Amino acid sequence: MDWKIQLFQLNYTQEEKNAVNSVLDSGWLTMGDNIKQFESNFSALIGPNIHSVAVSSATAALHLALLAFDIQEDDEVIIPSLTFVADANVVSMVKGKIVFADCTSLDDWSISLKSIESKITKKTKVLMVCHFAGYPCDMKPIKELCAKHNIKLIEDASHAPGASVDNLSCGAWGDINCFSFFTNKNLSVGEGGMLTTVNPIYAERLRFLRSHGMSSATLERHKGRAISYDVIIPGLNYRMDEIRAALGLVQLKKLQQSNDKRKLLTKRYRTNFMSSPIAIPYSIDNKKYQSAYHVLPVLLPRNSDRLEIINGMKAGGIQTSIHYPPFWDFAAYKDICKPEDMPITAEICRRELTLPLYPNMTFDQVDIVCKTLIDMV
Ligand SMILES: *Cc1c(COP(=O)(O)O)cnc(C)c1O
Repeated sequence: MDWKIQLFQLNYTQEEKNAVNSVLDSGWLTMGDNIKQFESNFSALIGPNIHSVAVSSATAALHLALLAFDIQEDDEVIIPSLTFVADANVVSMVKGKIVFADCTSLDDWSISLKSIESKITKKTKVLMVCHFAGYPCDMKPIKELCAKHNIKLIEDASHAPGASVDNLSCGAWGDINCFSFFTNKNLSVGEGGMLTTVNPIYAERLRFLRSHGMSSATLERHKGRAISYDVIIPGLNYRMDEIRAALGLVQLKKLQQSNDKRKLLTKRYRTNFMSSPIAIPYSIDNKKYQSAYHVLPVLLPRNSDRLEIINGMKAGGIQTSIHYPPFWDFAAYKDICKPEDMPITAEICRRELTLPLYPNMTFDQVDIVCKTLIDMV
């Protein structure tokens, strides 16, 4: 399909090509200087005393976080009911029990503090929150609640590199936090992810888990600093390679500027929809947080036919998406949840539509998307 306006476009230039070429020229493809530098620069973005561990995806990062917490069969993990399926899948992989918490309201789609509180039991070991579309959850009360009940906190910050709340970056609040550098994320390398933590013990454990539990890396042996290795704990191979780290370094430099552009485009969307029946969530101007403006979600009018609208947008050459289908629509999860248990999520999942947003989008393109949509509702 030849879209007139795509949902997302990479902001890659010659700089990314040069970065990849320099890795190829170096003759070293994985776990080298680019990884070290990318981790170090990412830590600087998130804040003081942050340890960053680069991995192959956010899903790998989330899985490692649960392994680092030693989550066992039947331990309960509270996750948002409006999130990407990876959050549930990783809990399934460690045989934990998934417990869904509802959204806060039709305007604030973040996980509800009240809903979290009502789901806590003696078996609750972990709370996972997601900064939906880049809009940070209200982390202070969430962190306090976790401390009170001795629950580990994971931020799924896949949408939120560069976002912050109460002057602390997303990725600095939880015990272990996860970022995605998948193609369509704010910082894209194709496939990649990052773990962040202020706890050096977790950081060390995550490094072992990432690389077969081995005590020394190939590069150390190559440089003659180590001859063999021990296996300290059982681990996996969730490493990132040098090409992706090199792309990440370039993309990281552009992140703030890209997020600023996303913010301006989001503002334009808000202005255009102001006197229409289309609602954009997180409408209250909240000085507490800075969003990363990852995607542009809207809530369609209650009685509109979403499928018809998606097809109408498609006919106009405009690509849209849905964030997210509800868990009860998935064969793997339909038996553990139902819409009545999370009424706000159910309503959002019925009416949500995601519109194009990417740094190189123009205001004219935003105007075309808005006009096309408004004409249909
Ligand atoms: C993209 C995404 C993930 C998974 O990221 P990958 O890097 O593709 O594994 C997890 N959670 C959320 C909220 C995401 O948007």
